[in-house]
Amino acid sequence: MAGIYLHIPFCKKRCIYCNFYSSTLLKYRGAYVGVLCRELRQRKEYLKGEAVKTIYLGGGTPSLLQRTELEKLFSEIGKVYGLGTCEEITIEANPDDLTEHYVKMLATLPVNRLSIGIQTFNDDSLKLLNRRHTAEEAISAVKRCQDAGFHNISIDLIYGLPGETEVQWQYDLEQAVALGVQHISAYSLTYEEGTALWKLREKQQIQEVEEEQSLLFFKMLMDTLKSAGFEHYEISNFCLPGYHSRHNSSYWEDIPYLGCGASAHSYDGISRQWNVADLERYIQGIAEGTPVFEREILDLPTRYNEFVMTGLRTAKGIELTKLRQQFGEKLFRYLLEMAKPYIDRNCLLITENRLHFTESGLFISDSIISDLLSISD
Ligand code: SF4
Repeated sequence: MAGIYLHIPFCKKRCIYCNFYSSTLLKYRGAYVGVLCRELRQRKEYLKGEAVKTIYLGGGTPSLLQRTELEKLFSEIGKVYGLGTCEEITIEANPDDLTEHYVKMLATLPVNRLSIGIQTFNDDSLKLLNRRHTAEEAISAVKRCQDAGFHNISIDLIYGLPGETEVQWQYDLEQAVALGVQHISAYSLTYEEGTALWKLREKQQIQEVEEEQSLLFFKMLMDTLKSAGFEHYEISNFCLPGYHSRHNSSYWEDIPYLGCGASAHSYDGISRQWNVADLERYIQGIAEGTPVFEREILDLPTRYNEFVMTGLRTAKGIELTKLRQQFGEKLFRYLLEMAKPYIDRNCLLITENRLHFTESGLFISDSIISDLLSISD
């Protein structure tokens, strides 16, 4: 089993909080798709013949691609890897791209899951974030997708926006539930160095919400979505039963994936590699058969750290027998020793051979995870 990720690094304009690699140079779109197809062919052996179970088009803004460009990509994947074994094919979309015409076109492609970046239903915040849509447009876009037959829709939300109140966040959550989507990803706003958001805070033009407030928002998120029937299956991800993201789950379950496109990451079980985050250098490298990428062989402590970090973020937690088999007695005992104080404080729990967070542990998950990581072999 394996996954394919395609990075579509184009945006009409930049949202102020975003630090994903993307460019507003839309003129490269056509050349980029051609090169992406070429990379898919060049790296055919990367997945060692594993059946492809999930495909994810992320960005950037994949919904800036037109019918012919998307058809070309799916046809290439079909030819090189086959689409017959795919259970889930997701495309990320911005609400303003989801016109009736575009949604109908998407419904003719082998796409069975949409991930729509809504972020908030507050128009002032959307404006501040430099998003391209209003709350009303986002709601209509989701309805159009549902009407066109998409019944596996995820939306993204952000909480802890500057000046956000509990009433506003509760409103966002209720709007999200009312949309009748199957999956919700919700992230606390982060201030990444170099972003416009970071600069606004530097100039004291906006204020970051207090940590206590952010934890309260997280609690509201869990309570509201739980009572609406959503399962909290990963720290930032909620789904109706059966609708977890197969693609993202494979990142957390150590399944290999091939990432094509500028800045895309790939993982083959022993190493991680990432393409250059530069559109022109990426296009030129692939076109000339000299791809520009970096690769890191993952040593035992690094693989252990990733296993602990990603596993603990999920509701299922870490399978202890698997950890012992993969990383040996020494790291297994180290984990149990480091976890003990948190088990005693009821922040971590072992159930049926799995170590996982309790609800109170989730509120301090970052600091617990960093205490469980290994610093040396
Ligand atoms: S959040 Fe999405 S649409 Fe906004 S700049 Fe980042 S990649 Fe582009």
